[in-house]
Amino acid sequence: MSDKTYPPSAELAASAHINSDTYDTMYAASISDPEAFWGEHGKRIDWIKPYTKVKNTSFAPGNVDIKWFEDGTLNVSANCIDRHLETRGNQTAIIFEPDDPKEQAQSISYADLHRRVCRMANILEELGVRKGDRVIIYMPMIPEAAYAMLACARIGAIHSIVFAGFSSDALGARVNGCDAKVVITADTAPRGGRKTALKSNVDAALLHCKDTVKCLVVKRTGDQTTWIDGRDFDYNEMAFEASDYCKPAEMNAEDPLFILYTSGSTGQPKGVVHTTGGYLVQAAMSHQYTFDYQEGDIYWCTADVGWVTGHSYIVYGPLANGATTLMFEGVPTYPDASRFWQVCEKHKVNQFYTAPTALRALMGQGNEFVERCDLSSLRILGTVGEPINPEAWNWYNDVVGGGRCPIVDTWWQTETGAHMMTPLPGAHATKPGAAMKPFFGVHPVVLDPQSGEIIECNDVEGVLCMADSWPSQMRTVWGDHERFEKTYFSDYKGYYFAGDGCRRDADGDYWITGRVDDVINVSGHRMGTAEVESALVAHASVAEAAVVGYPHDIKGQGIYCYVTLMNGVEPTDELRKELRTWVRTEIGPIASPDLIQWAPGLPKTRSGKIMRRILRKIAENDYGALGDTSTLAEPAVVDDLIENRMNKA
Ligand code: ATP
Ligand code: MG
Repeated sequence: MSDKTYPPSAELAASAHINSDTYDTMYAASISDPEAFWGEHGKRIDWIKPYTKVKNTSFAPGNVDIKWFEDGTLNVSANCIDRHLETRGNQTAIIFEPDDPKEQAQSISYADLHRRVCRMANILEELGVRKGDRVIIYMPMIPEAAYAMLACARIGAIHSIVFAGFSSDALGARVNGCDAKVVITADTAPRGGRKTALKSNVDAALLHCKDTVKCLVVKRTGDQTTWIDGRDFDYNEMAFEASDYCKPAEMNAEDPLFILYTSGSTGQPKGVVHTTGGYLVQAAMSHQYTFDYQEGDIYWCTADVGWVTGHSYIVYGPLANGATTLMFEGVPTYPDASRFWQVCEKHKVNQFYTAPTALRALMGQGNEFVERCDLSSLRILGTVGEPINPEAWNWYNDVVGGGRCPIVDTWWQTETGAHMMTPLPGAHATKPGAAMKPFFGVHPVVLDPQSGEIIECNDVEGVLCMADSWPSQMRTVWGDHERFEKTYFSDYKGYYFAGDGCRRDADGDYWITGRVDDVINVSGHRMGTAEVESALVAHASVAEAAVVGYPHDIKGQGIYCYVTLMNGVEPTDELRKELRTWVRTEIGPIASPDLIQWAPGLPKTRSGKIMRRILRKIAENDYGALGDTSTLAEPAVVDDLIENRMNKA
């Protein structure tokens, strides 16, 4: 791991919302007296009826119960729209950049947003949706996806977004899982120059759902779709007729805002429930501080609204702050690998937030795609989703950020609702690959995996848990509170268990070492997968790598590496040998790979995360039981790896 640190510039430290002194004071206050801290910061959003109670939470086994601001009432859409109308009605709320760069971008002002969300809310009411009802959103990355979310919030319906890349089976299961009344979709969705037939996927899904479920169809391309009168409704036609005012419903802070399934990296996805008040407070606060969002900035998060990152950091956080947020319909490599950077140049993006998987893919394409664009508007760069290898971090820092832009490596989860650990750009020096510091109100502890005891000092490694609740914490698994308690609160009693391992270095800074399930134990030495993978990726011939353990007669577990080579590099036995020596010198003999399999592709979730549990099964020769593969992006990748399993040494 690199020991290099990158302190904030004096200029940024002076101008940022949070500098190191304010961080220290605020952080200490947030931990010593959460009631007082959140009682104060809860006021950053507008309440219809102000809360008098702040925190009422218990992690006690068998009695996990989490409530924040429990007697306050508010409306999320009024917070994201109405309260900005007076001061910034004409300011752009959403910039829409379509898949095809030749198609015109759109700017939606806060006043426009208000009208459109009100219309969509009225349409939903016309379709019979009431407070507490569930609505599935299965949409491309178009502004109507944000309208749909905000329209649900406006009338108190609970939305559940299903990523548009999911199949009709996955969609149907989720419609039934939450007993949804309406599915909002689009005719077809352009992405990377191809089209997904969303409406026909809905048609297929609804064959297996109650016949009372209605479908609201947004016209994106105008492509023909089958139509069932009485079940299918034309959004564009209805919006024309609908009133452009809808009164926001008064919601309790603890009313559910949305249900969202986790990515499915480690098993069957969990239906995470987030509520209204605490979620919005922390999403808004972290958006402002983590990205040092300043008035007038253009902010772009490349995630899809189908993931929690899209919920908190494309829609709810930015809009609650009155920001300008960019929605991008396309992919990083269409029409070519400079698309991200062209969009940054075109819209003069100030904050750019993406995932390591995208960075690794773009890094493999060469620097000229970045260098041909003017990226001088960029101020802050962010990453989320997986540990970022130092190699990719350095590339992001040097080539994309020109060495000027702090990188915020944000560790968090669908379950946590908002950033949990991240450097704050004006307050902390960053280190390539480190999530650094807890966010305000976040109380991490490192536990010994066996004994469950807290490890107090620095320069230690263990499992990452939370000692206390934070406002945007998930409240339950939809319809299965027992699974909630079992998954997060039963392994280490009295703590929230994140499922990830971490290291706290000698300076007290945090590094996420990967999933606890992925830890490898080689001859009694415990190793995170991230470390070995980062060493492999640091080799000039390696584009991407995934490492798992497999049963080994002598060592207990051996190290099995799946390696994707850079474009044009030949897989040879020489190179295998070289990679072994390389890892040995980078980390030490204990980490020396036992087996290296060339992998043209790696199995990933649809949000782009490596699914090591599947690679583990292949390494163990246990193809019969690959587990839940419903969130796997490209099943063919797995077949290929199984077929070529013998191509290793
Ligand atoms: P599932 O819970 O269904 O297995 P998942 O954990 O991938 O899927 P998400 O909630 O999308 O679902 O992802 C959260 C996880 O992503 C974290 O627990 C962590 O393992 C990883 N992660 C996210 N951000 C970072 C980061 N900055 N550094 C390291 N790991 C990260
Ligand atoms: Mg998870």
